[in-house]
Amino acid sequence: MWRRLTFNAPLERAYRASQGRRYRTPRTLLFGLAALSFLIAPMLNKALFQADPETVPMLLFIQLAWALPVLGLGALAPWLALSRSAHNAINMAGCLTLWASCYAQLYLTQLGWMTFPLHMVNFTVVAVAVFGGFRARLMVVGGSLTMALSLITVIHFDRPDGDPDRLFAYETAYLWLIGIGGAVTTDLLNREGWLYRAQIRLLSRTDALSGLLTRGAFDEHYRRVIAAASREQRHVAVALIDLDHFKTFNDRYGHLKGDEVLTQTGTALLSVEGGRPLDLRARYGGEEFIAVWYDVQPDDLEVMGQRFLNAIRCVDIRIEKHGERIPVTASIGIAAGIPTRRGGDALIEAADRQLYAAKAAGRNCMQAVVLTADGAPLQHNA
Ligand code: GH3
Ligand code: MG
Ligand code: MG
Repeated sequence: MWRRLTFNAPLERAYRASQGRRYRTPRTLLFGLAALSFLIAPMLNKALFQADPETVPMLLFIQLAWALPVLGLGALAPWLALSRSAHNAINMAGCLTLWASCYAQLYLTQLGWMTFPLHMVNFTVVAVAVFGGFRARLMVVGGSLTMALSLITVIHFDRPDGDPDRLFAYETAYLWLIGIGGAVTTDLLNREGWLYRAQIRLLSRTDALSGLLTRGAFDEHYRRVIAAASREQRHVAVALIDLDHFKTFNDRYGHLKGDEVLTQTGTALLSVEGGRPLDLRARYGGEEFIAVWYDVQPDDLEVMGQRFLNAIRCVDIRIEKHGERIPVTASIGIAAGIPTRRGGDALIEAADRQLYAAKAAGRNCMQAVVLTADGAPLQHNA
């Protein structure tokens, strides 16, 4: 079970990044509350914990100079533009500070300098373990150390009325079992839920047949690509790729063979280089595919289109009985231009017109156009 609390390295990084976001609010609340209680604690030290007047300045020092900056920063972290690791470091420091200062007060109590309810240590350690949203391994090690230290301290200062100490020992053991159980369960459930969510996201974004992006995922990415291109004044090229005579293919060889073509076409489109982060390949619908290149040179459209045509010509589909190869071809329409913020549709429509032209020109070929800023054709390539 211990091993189930860690994913493999890239997955673990992604998980921690997303957990940081999910837990920001509850953690902030936890540490914000802690900061608040520490803020008012020095004023209440005398009344609440009956501290020795000579001890009060030292307590003030511990609580204000040591605990407050960490806890205050922890509470403010979501509103400060901090990096994720700085955010985590502050949260961790806040958690350790909570435990350490609780332990320090227990220690001073055992020295007889103040009174402090021993159970506060247990409750604090358990609360942070269960509700802090930290990784279970960290909580089990850190919490066990704090609990053990408190236990040893209480036993070491063996007071004549031994009873409360024994009670404290039982309580510590019992509460810490709850703490460990809570931390491990929370961590396991979080990881499981995160995996399911990631799986669902992946399934909804990947087309089962072609392995490319689904139409929905494409629309979402495409909007972002167009916004970036319009902001940075870069050329975007859109290629609509439509298989030739696919209806006839289905009628002649059956839908399952047709599906095989779609699967191999997806692989073929992915095999063509150009996998930059903002480049897209998607199944646009039926036997139509769409590819988007970000920041292209308009002179390169011809070469890029030909690469797709060739990749699809290499799709290897054979008739089972004779092993005879069935040729598969596609027609491609490409449009490129520097889009305006809402100019994504215009590019796709222009690519669609080029696709019709390629079909009319006899199929198994490409047609491309470069658009000017106002959407007018600038130049044609065939
Ligand atoms: P053209 O060269 O003009 O593009 O001719 P076409 O027959 O390819 O054109 P049309 O758009 O009329 O036909 C598309 C066909 O694609 C119709 C449909 O049966 C087939 N199709 C769409 N989605 C799927 C799918 O998921 N699997 C299979 N096997 N066929 C599909
Ligand atoms: Mg079609
Ligand atoms: Mg077709």
